[in-house]
Amino acid sequence: MRLPLHLQAQLASGLRLRGQGYTTRFAPSPTGPLHRGNLRTALLSWLEARLRGGQWLLRIDDLDGPRNRPGAEAAILNDLRWLGLDWDGPVVHQSARRGLYATVLSALRQAGRLYPCRCSRRLLADVSAPHGALAVYPGYCRDRAPFWGAQAGRLPSWRLRLEPGVLRWQERGGPCGGQDGPAAVGDVVLRRADGVVAYHLATAIDELLMGISEVVRGDDLWPSTGAQVAVMATLGCPPPAYAHVPLWRDSRGERLSKREGAEGLAGLRSRGMDAPAVIGCLAASLELVPPGSRLSARELASSLSPEAVKACQDPQRT
Ligand code: GLU
Repeated sequence: MRLPLHLQAQLASGLRLRGQGYTTRFAPSPTGPLHRGNLRTALLSWLEARLRGGQWLLRIDDLDGPRNRPGAEAAILNDLRWLGLDWDGPVVHQSARRGLYATVLSALRQAGRLYPCRCSRRLLADVSAPHGALAVYPGYCRDRAPFWGAQAGRLPSWRLRLEPGVLRWQERGGPCGGQDGPAAVGDVVLRRADGVVAYHLATAIDELLMGISEVVRGDDLWPSTGAQVAVMATLGCPPPAYAHVPLWRDSRGERLSKREGAEGLAGLRSRGMDAPAVIGCLAASLELVPPGSRLSARELASSLSPEAVKACQDPQRT
């Protein structure tokens, strides 16, 4: 696919960056305070970066305006600082990169890789949010004459026309990741009917341009990976490696969720825990240290080997 030259140059420089050393990122959405599970994933990805002498970048996934909560980003940054999880370089905001995403979208559209879709979300129960139900779109609008304007006051969403075949990626601690494009992923929405750039598009572009060599994130996002790999493949780029790490589950086996107000640092602090106690508790839940340990994030990093951090991400363990 022919991309504008400046975009080609940006993608090439992202791939070069990727080749220069280990870079990972933590990418919270500012929809509420981080809970214990998010903090544990943040700690794990931070440990990976520090133990490998790499970079830990912080990206705020704040494209979906109505879902953002006032003050949530400041609280997230404060929590990370309080725990001693220091990030490299400036905080990246997806909301500041809308122009970039729009350039990619129009290049994909001009190249005939997208089509307008007028199926309502309700009809399909199909959402592009990271934790939404990932229904496979049945392709109703795929072969309709492409009309991109408004109809009955509604603009279409923009879908990526997926090629047949399996989308593969390297998954650490497990077999190679893969999802069949048409059967398991479907033609994904890259721009929603309300004009919001979809999570899959923004995330795929950012992993490429930020030079991410390995994405470390919760295993609830494993099913989103095929769609992101598809976007990267359309742009002619190989995906980074992925490590989808086990989520912290409650005693009933349910994953903790921001929406249900799973306990964050505020709650832990109100129970009198200081940062070394919280780091000890997060690390103990990963069996990296004995329960009741107290230590700073730096002390934890210097006491561990990369093998120990890798072992605690084994999908067979919880
Ligand atoms: N922003 C997404 C979330 O908070 C995570 C994105 C990702 O790690 O790919 O769930």
